Amino acid sequence: MRLFEAFTPLLDEAAGIAKEWLGGLPSRGAGASATAEELRRALDRPLGEDGESAADVVRSFARAVEPGLAASPGPRYFGFVTGGSLPAALAADWLASAWDQNGFLYASSPAIAVTEDIVASWVLDLLGLPPEASVGFVTGCQMANFTALAAARHEVLKRSGWDVEADGLFGAPEVAVVAGEEAHATIFVALRMLGLGEKNTMLVPADGQGRMIPEALREALKGVNGPLIVCLQAGNLNTGAFDPCRDLVPIARERGAWVHVDGAFGLWGLLLPELEQHTAGIGLADSWATDAHKWLNVPYDSGLVIVRDREAHRGAMMVKAPLLAPGEGLRDPSAWVPESSRRGRVFPLYCALRSLGRGGLREMVARNCTQARLFARLLSEDPGIEILNDVVLNQVLVAFRPPEGVGADEFTRRVIAAVQREGTCWAGGNVWKRRAVMRISVSNWATAEEDIRLSAAAIRRVLDGARRGLSR
Ligand SMILES: *Cc1c(COP(=O)(O)O)cnc(C)c1O
Repeated sequence: MRLFEAFTPLLDEAAGIAKEWLGGLPSRGAGASATAEELRRALDRPLGEDGESAADVVRSFARAVEPGLAASPGPRYFGFVTGGSLPAALAADWLASAWDQNGFLYASSPAIAVTEDIVASWVLDLLGLPPEASVGFVTGCQMANFTALAAARHEVLKRSGWDVEADGLFGAPEVAVVAGEEAHATIFVALRMLGLGEKNTMLVPADGQGRMIPEALREALKGVNGPLIVCLQAGNLNTGAFDPCRDLVPIARERGAWVHVDGAFGLWGLLLPELEQHTAGIGLADSWATDAHKWLNVPYDSGLVIVRDREAHRGAMMVKAPLLAPGEGLRDPSAWVPESSRRGRVFPLYCALRSLGRGGLREMVARNCTQARLFARLLSEDPGIEILNDVVLNQVLVAFRPPEGVGADEFTRRVIAAVQREGTCWAGGNVWKRRAVMRISVSNWATAEEDIRLSAAAIRRVLDGARRGLSR
């Protein structure tokens, strides 16, 4: 079969399936409906010796997985911090697959290299970060944290006369690493992968909202003199709270620290002047990690690592032979990330940003914050619902007051499970300050005020049902 004939009907069919899925998002249950067992039964079969028709395979695969799909791009999915997919981003993502470019070197895809340069400068400008900083386009914030901390490790050891890329960590000067006790788990995974270990990290106490306490950081740094990395956070996964960077960065700086900020979703708070009291000082750091697949609403997987000192970033990542140098002013995309061959992950970012514009992006982030506050207010009208955080950003932490004789954690977990079963919306459970909680994250462009009202009403109905069920 000729090339075009092989693709055309199949892509039309896939587009049809996608359109049906997207169109059905608002009306389907927010969570997946199938059990693992049902999915296995639908998908598992001996892989035959002979191939099957591509159209049949794709069609039957789509039908089989459909009950296992969460409506996570939909307007009432509030689990984790999920975001959605902007139409321009999704379309560009399809094209990235069709074009199938390799963002390894400039030479392998000039289009990726130049688009990355442009999106990098847009993002630095939007967030008010140093225009000379370097940006790598990674798979998500985990890899952004890893890459930034690799640059940090490179630089703090270089200042002690140690070349960690060449000589490794055996015999190296000890690197002190400090993080808040509410730092995200991916910081510790990054430290583990970098040979810095998880357990060596000094944990600095945080306040009731999960913000690192400046005096406690000062105390922790008292005896530290050598190479030092301090990890701060913009946007706590549970509360949305910001570490007070304005106070913390200077304290770390006095000790010569490299300061890293994990801002997976919170970094986008820099867009809103009304959040200045929370975000002040973020720009003083040395490196920043953020996601695009969360609040920027591009499809998975997409994150950004930003490093003030380009040479440290390059020194940590660049392992290429000199003959691969792309030439003056040209970018080798893989010089800024751990990967070598990689897709045109930047294309959806470019299209997302242009389709929103500066104002549209600001408005989307602000709207989600307003919706989070509305969600919290509607829920707290029920005396059986307690909001545990100051809703400063887009996250809402909820606990349910149990009827007499029922444990609080058990009751909250029971209500969460019932909310998920009911299906109007989806929110997950977590533990916050040793209490079981429900966490709501509003981070999707497609969420409307009506979705918040429907969801809050559904949660309250489910809570009523749980209380009645227990008192019977
Ligand atoms: C989600 C998140 C991460 C990890 O990001 P991935 O995109 O899952 O790799 C890191 N830090 C914070 C604060 C997050 O919310």
